[in-house]
Amino acid sequence: MFGKGNTVGKAWRFGQFWQGKRCGAKTRAGHPCKKAAMKGRDRCRNHGGASTGPRTSKGRARIAAAQTTHGRLTKEKRAAAKRNAAVGRQIRAELLEIEAWALDRGHLDKDWRDKLNKALVLED
Ligand SMILES: [Zn+2]
Repeated sequence: MFGKGNTVGKAWRFGQFWQGKRCGAKTRAGHPCKKAAMKGRDRCRNHGGASTGPRTSKGRARIAAAQTTHGRLTKEKRAAAKRNAAVGRQIRAELLEIEAWALDRGHLDKDWRDKLNKALVLED
């Protein structure tokens, strides 16, 4: 009638050797919850296992704000970093084109970088 090791309570109660997943919540008394977790979840019905989470956009935003630590990796920030990187690549490509044009027309010597670096060092 009773499960293994369970000599008190009702016959359907889960015994100490029950193989299933237990609820992972800590009770207010301080010990772990003994109920079975809901199918596919880590909590029993009493501890939020039946919760579907935030559904409204307002609720989802509130949870996202509570979970955000510093916001450096938000979708918007990552998209902005991608845009900035693309602008940087375009600028560097245009500078290379301009350098090639100036070298081609003789406005710059081939060693213009070395000369510029030496001039900048002498100024200091
Ligand atoms: Zn529980």
